[in-house]
Amino acid sequence: MKQKTIKNNFITPIVSDSEWTAKYPKVDREYVWTYPLLHGPEEFRAKEIFSEPNVPIISNDLVVYIHLPACLFRCPMCPFYVELVKSREQIMGYANLLIKELEMYEKTGVLSKYNLKAIYFGGGTASLLFPDDVGKIVKNVMKCIKNDGNVEITLEGHPVLADYNYLSALHSVGVNRVSFGIQSFCDDDLRVMGLKQTAKSNFKTLENATKLGFNTVSADMLYRLPNQKPNDVLIQLNQFLETGITSLSAYSLELSVRQGEQIKMQASEEEDKEMFYLINETLLHKNWNHTAQPDYSHKSHISEETVVTWKAPQGQTLGLGAGACSSINGNTYFNVHSMEEYNNVISEGCLPILSGQKYTLADAMSRYMVLGARCFNLPRKPFFDAFGIDMFDVFSNEIYQLSKLGLVSKDEDALNITRDGKYYVDNISKTFYSLENRCHVQPWGEKMKGAVAKDYLSII
Ligand code: SF4
Repeated sequence: MKQKTIKNNFITPIVSDSEWTAKYPKVDREYVWTYPLLHGPEEFRAKEIFSEPNVPIISNDLVVYIHLPACLFRCPMCPFYVELVKSREQIMGYANLLIKELEMYEKTGVLSKYNLKAIYFGGGTASLLFPDDVGKIVKNVMKCIKNDGNVEITLEGHPVLADYNYLSALHSVGVNRVSFGIQSFCDDDLRVMGLKQTAKSNFKTLENATKLGFNTVSADMLYRLPNQKPNDVLIQLNQFLETGITSLSAYSLELSVRQGEQIKMQASEEEDKEMFYLINETLLHKNWNHTAQPDYSHKSHISEETVVTWKAPQGQTLGLGAGACSSINGNTYFNVHSMEEYNNVISEGCLPILSGQKYTLADAMSRYMVLGARCFNLPRKPFFDAFGIDMFDVFSNEIYQLSKLGLVSKDEDALNITRDGKYYVDNISKTFYSLENRCHVQPWGEKMKGAVAKDYLSII
C-alpha cells in the first residue's frame, strides 16, 4: 500500500480573511456541507472515534450514508471527486467492501447506541449499483443497527441510468425514496451544460418513479443557467411541479473555471436573488416546506436524512465507501477517496479513514449553529440542555451583527433565519465558525485525488 503523510493544509487550504469572508450583500457561494473542518496541528488518530467524546452528544439518531464516487461520464461543471467507469460491471464487488466496512464498525460496538433513521445512497452515481447489491447493503445495515422498521431509504439516480426495470427492482429491495439529477426540462439548456439526459428521458424517469409508488420522488433543479431569465426559471419550476414530484432541491448553478464563456452569460447576483425568491415564494404558496436550503418538500415528504444531518440538534452520520464523510461520537472525518486505495485498505482489515477532527467544545457549539442555520430555526433549549449555557450568550456578538443586517431574529425559544437571511444561509453559517475554523475552505473535489493516510486503523 502506498504511504503518504497527509498535511491538513493540503486537504483544507487556508485563505486570507478577505478571500474567506464574503462581504454582504455578496452571497457566499461555498456551500457549507460539513463542520468542523480538518484543522489543528496534529494528525487525526482514527481510534479517537471509539473513545469518549470531548463534547456532549445530543442526539443518537443516525443516518448511514453510502458513497460511490463513480460516474459514466464527467459533467462539465462537476466540482466533485469522481472516477470514470465504463459500466455497472466494473464496480461489482464494491457492495461487499461496503459491507465489510460496516462489519468493522459493528465489531467496535460503536453502533449499538444509535437509532437508525435513514439510509442514503449518494455519489457520484449511486444508480451504478445493481439493485440486488443495494438490497444486500440495506439488509446488512438494518441488521447491524437498531431501528423500528420504518427507515427512510433513498437512492440518488442519474436519469440515464434508471429505467423502469431498474427502478422497479430498487423498489422491490426496499428503497422508498428516489432522487434524480434532472436539472432542467429544456433540451437547449441541457445541451449547453453538456449533460447527457434529455427533456424526454427526464420526464420518463419521473413518470416511472411516480408510477412505481415510491414514498417520495425528488428532483434536483438547476437555475441561473447561461442566458436564463427569471421568467424562464418560473416556467421550468412549473414543469417540475407538473410531474408530480413531492420534493425538490433547487441549486443556483456554479460553473467551473473551465467554463469561462458561459460564466459571462450567467445572470447577475441581483437576478440570481430574484430567481431564488421566485422559487421560494412559488413553493411556499403551494404549501411546500423549505426544509433546508436548497431543499423543499411537500409537507408529508420531509426527508429524515435532511433532518438528522442538518436540523439542530443534529444526529450522527456514518459514511461508508470511498470519499464518504462521517460525523460520529464527536468527530468529523473522511474516508480515502481513491476507489483502488479504498479496496486495498478494506481488504487488509482496516478502516479507510483519511483524516478528521475530534470536536472541541467550541467546535460542537458552533456545529449546532453552522449546520442548523440551513434549516432556518435554531432551538434554544436543546443547546442549553447539552452545553449548560444559553446560545444567545455564547453567540451574542454574531447574533447582534446578523440581526443588524436583518438576517436573523430572536424569539423566546429560538434563533430564526429571516426571509432576507435565507438567501445568505452560507454567509450566516460561516459567521458561526469557531476561531480555529475561520479562513479554512472545506475539503473538496479533485484536491483529494491521490491523498492517502500515513497509516490506517486495523480492526481485528
Ligand atoms: S455532476 Fe454528478 S453525475 Fe455529473 S460527473 Fe459530477 S457526480 Fe457525476
